[in-house]
Amino acid sequence: MTKTSEPHLIDPFGRHVSYLRVSVTDRCDFRCVYCMSEHMTFLPKRDLLTLEELDRVCSAFVDRGVRKLRITGGEPLVRKNIMWLFNSLARHLNAGTLDELTLTTNGSQLKKYAGDLKACGVERVNVSIDSLDPEKFKTITRWGDLSNVMDGLRAADAAGLKVKINTVALKGFNEDEINDLMMFCHDHGFDLTLIETMPLGDIEGDRTDQYLPLSVVRARLMERWTLEDIPYKTGGPARYVKIRETGGRLGFITPMTHNFCESCNRVRLTCTGTLYMCLGKDDAADLRASMRASEDDGLLHQTIDEAIGRKPKGHDFVIDRAHEKPAVSRHMSVTGG
Ligand code: SAM
Ligand code: SF4
Repeated sequence: MTKTSEPHLIDPFGRHVSYLRVSVTDRCDFRCVYCMSEHMTFLPKRDLLTLEELDRVCSAFVDRGVRKLRITGGEPLVRKNIMWLFNSLARHLNAGTLDELTLTTNGSQLKKYAGDLKACGVERVNVSIDSLDPEKFKTITRWGDLSNVMDGLRAADAAGLKVKINTVALKGFNEDEINDLMMFCHDHGFDLTLIETMPLGDIEGDRTDQYLPLSVVRARLMERWTLEDIPYKTGGPARYVKIRETGGRLGFITPMTHNFCESCNRVRLTCTGTLYMCLGKDDAADLRASMRASEDDGLLHQTIDEAIGRKPKGHDFVIDRAHEKPAVSRHMSVTGG
């Protein structure tokens, strides 16, 4: 394989890019209201990177010092033959060149895959759940079935996977459930991370109506619980506290109220091989073209180098009435959440 002179990926602000998030499909078996419109047009299958190409590009990043890979989507576990990719990428874990292979999932297929994921070296999964009320869960996901996801959580637990629940905090929807969600997670030994809704892609409805600053959630939690700041890190943007009374961890991802770009260590690849250096910016690099132009990885590495050389300092998301358009037009399911 052709190697470039610079082994590691360092951006113009001195940040070491060590974390790649890869969307393996834009498709999903749910239609969460803040993520997708009900009638999404998905990409033609021929535009997607093949599983072999996904393996090739992930491996090129591992060669360049990426230590953490997160497989996401759309719903990653609806991609046909997805375990082939996990099994193949696991060789980097075995070789000690990758610290973590993980995924973000809606949990709908976990019952089927939890054992296989654990067997190939996945240690942790992030499962997105915005409500523990079956009716509300259906409302927010449009097509999801909470009991199926609960079965998936049990399967993950039984397989020995560490589970983190991700919850998007939504005004007027689940703000009264945050306590229950946290107690549910901590009772089961799961971490919980709360996320602010971000202005990504056109959806039905107004994002201003959904946006709930986590500063508000935190203040409410502090009326009832003791939040202790802890230095715990998972390589992502969450800041964690320990809840003294439960002993469990609670994370906050606050792209809106507290910009975390200064410590950004990650880039994102779409399922068509487009590399985004920032979730909130449009600049991108076409890695599919570089891969398909040459069997050798030289051009691929050159394109990656040029892209990292353009990684911006940060994003500038705003959600208010004056900003009716999303910050970027692509949905989270395209960039890979
Ligand atoms: N389908 C998988 C899932 O739901 O976990 C993986 C992909 S999904 C795009 C990844 C995460 O992005 C989910 O936790 C979801 O709640 C979150 N998400 C989607 N759209 C978002 C938005 N506009 N703002 C904030 N988070 C969003
Ligand atoms: Fe699908 Fe995940 Fe988006 Fe929900 S958040 S529609 S589960 S990709």
